[in-house]
Amino acid sequence: MRIYPVFLSHAGCRQRCVFCNQRAAERIKPWKESIEEAFHYIQKSNLVYDEIAFYGGTPTSSENLLKDILQPFQTFLKIGKIKGIRISTRPDEINESIIQILVDYGVSTVEIGVESFSDEVLRLSKRGHTEEDVKRAHELLKGRFREVFQLMVGLPGETDRHREETISKTVSLKPWGVRYFPTLVLRGTELQKMYESGTYQPLSMEEALYWSRRAYESFMAAGIAVLQIGLHSSEFLSEELVAGPYCGNFGELVRGVM
Ligand code: SF4
Repeated sequence: MRIYPVFLSHAGCRQRCVFCNQRAAERIKPWKESIEEAFHYIQKSNLVYDEIAFYGGTPTSSENLLKDILQPFQTFLKIGKIKGIRISTRPDEINESIIQILVDYGVSTVEIGVESFSDEVLRLSKRGHTEEDVKRAHELLKGRFREVFQLMVGLPGETDRHREETISKTVSLKPWGVRYFPTLVLRGTELQKMYESGTYQPLSMEEALYWSRRAYESFMAAGIAVLQIGLHSSEFLSEELVAGPYCGNFGELVRGVM
């Protein structure tokens, strides 16, 4: 699948999650520049893209922001140069009028940052949404888009029971796909301060592999597509990593043992 990724930095975010790396946001271009760059690149390219994918930020936090992001690519959709649009956003920023814009502008895949089904874990992670928001967003998205849950394991305050629940509740809601990420401590995050003050301890590699394998097995058995396990290796990530269960082939280690 040929995907053109566009990173939107923190466009539309009203808060800052404890694990979100601000230095990354500073390195990524302002979202308008990223949109212009993507537009010119696709215009000049001879390739056909299966999807243009917008990652990061909260593009659905305002109707105007969402339209500004999607509008430039409508012409490529019409002439078949891109076949679909993917956006990634927060569950509490999805409502009927946002859904209508997503439909009108040809969005085919919507990824939502669920992270955990525990309200306490979400609160300690400063996510600013609840389990109820996830269920409400799911009701609005299901059957209309390819819906992807982004999930994390090893968040602050999380116990094994929370980890089990996040897997089992995902299986019962049955989104089209999932991404599953062990939490990493990155530079410039609130999580780094929590880690250095001793109030947060990341999962060990053994624990991260155990839960990721368990999640992978459960999702596959339920017919849910597993799009990604663990962050992809990159020069940027190795520079920013403070602590946590990371290795370049984490996903392969998880899938390889099945
Ligand atoms: S919603 Fe996403 S981009 Fe915005 S602060 Fe949280 S993790 Fe970062």
